Amino acid sequence: VCPSNAISMKETPGGLLQAEVCEDLCTHCGLCLKVCPGDHLQPDLLSSEVDPFKGPLRKVYYGKSSNPKHLRNGQSGGVATTLLCWLLDQKYIDKALVTQMPNDGTLRPVSMWAKSEKDIVRSQGSKYCPVALNEVLPNGKEIMSSRYALVGLPCHIHGVKNILDIKRSKSRPLLIGLVCDRVMSYGALDYMICKAGIKRLDVRSFRFRNKKFGGWPGDIGIQKYDQNIFRLSSKHRQWCKGFFTPLRCYLCFDKMNYFADIVLGDAWGVEEVKEGSSVIIARTSRGKDVIEKAMLNGILVGDTIDPERVFSGQHIKLKRKNWTSSTTVWQQQGNSIPDFGIKQSWYSAITNGDKKVFAKKIRIACYLPNVRLRKVMLKKAMLKYSFGQIKRQLVSLFKKIW
Ligand SMILES: Cc1cc2nc3c(=O)[nH]c(=O)nc-3n(C[C@H](O)[C@H](O)[C@H](O)COP(=O)(O)OP(=O)(O)OC[C@H]3O[C@@H](n4cnc5c(N)ncnc54)[C@H](O)[C@@H]3O)c2cc1C
Repeated sequence: VCPSNAISMKETPGGLLQAEVCEDLCTHCGLCLKVCPGDHLQPDLLSSEVDPFKGPLRKVYYGKSSNPKHLRNGQSGGVATTLLCWLLDQKYIDKALVTQMPNDGTLRPVSMWAKSEKDIVRSQGSKYCPVALNEVLPNGKEIMSSRYALVGLPCHIHGVKNILDIKRSKSRPLLIGLVCDRVMSYGALDYMICKAGIKRLDVRSFRFRNKKFGGWPGDIGIQKYDQNIFRLSSKHRQWCKGFFTPLRCYLCFDKMNYFADIVLGDAWGVEEVKEGSSVIIARTSRGKDVIEKAMLNGILVGDTIDPERVFSGQHIKLKRKNWTSSTTVWQQQGNSIPDFGIKQSWYSAITNGDKKVFAKKIRIACYLPNVRLRKVMLKKAMLKYSFGQIKRQLVSLFKKIW
């Protein structure tokens, strides 16, 4: 939204993306702050009647793509990809805003406009790291068009909603939202490559979860220039969450993408099968219309499901408690949280023990913005992992002896 193009996204040594403002170009109009999802959601966007941790619902489904190639290469049930290809084919949209992991060794996901099946398929797979979707969002009137779809995380869609709300726009893109617990700083990629014993310069591309390795949810796939794909156990990805989660993710309530027309996630607790499957939430009548037509036409195969099964599989009760704990701790330390406008009645009850756990997580998260050298951060992460291993081995030895 910046009228003078003064803002760019810069990577910090800790592997976070931060907005940098060029003082020479900035006119201090304040538009960026008005739409910044890290600062607030526009007033009244959240309904006081709807549980913010579950979001509005029209109908909830589980299912998968009927296209074997999309399903095989997809992160969950390949639903995002099949839907976009079908919407393009039906001329419901002219283009889709998607995010690809390039093949050029940069290992930094790039958001782009896809107008063909090839480009949409190339964007398959979840990138659990920062993505600057804002860099390619259309400007001015173009953003208000209903002729495109975008796939985004909750924070991306918060930004879009803020803009559309300020512009009082009636037409808007089809918003396909992903369920999102968190991203990890880019440092996590370097860490996992180190763990694999591969030189960073030998790596061409990276897949956080590759179904070729063990089926869904899949181990990590590190693609080298010699065309070999190195398989690394998913336990390393899981471990990274504790060290590389940005603070901003701990402060985000919206794990279920409240404002999307259609929400897609893994079918945790619903249909955990090796080929992959998705949960699909239609939040608006437009979203429901698209999904029902896609199912009727055999583009997607699936069925409706009790929403509470999805929320239980996604551990919404725990996520409500985690959010309450982290935001309480952060505010008690004298900081503010993004102004989402969530009523206190939607908060969870928490104990001092919960606060202690999140005080530790926040302490670790606060380290990332202060990293000066990536090398030092990686050494610290390696040491932490090794100490954890030793501790676990000692505990199990102790248990055996007793
Ligand atoms: C950071 C992140 C965290 C997630 N956390 C959870 C979770 O906790 N629980 C859960 O059930 N599901 C989670 N998901 C969603 C899940 O991993 C799948 O992305 C989703 O189910 C869609 O799968 P699919 O097979 O239909 O998509 P595919 O057909 O594989 O297509 C994936 C689509 O996602 C887009 N995409 C990928 N990464 C990003 C990104 N970082 N930002 C914007 N767009 C992106 C691509 O452009 C592509 O269009 C998360 C996804 C991401 C990216």
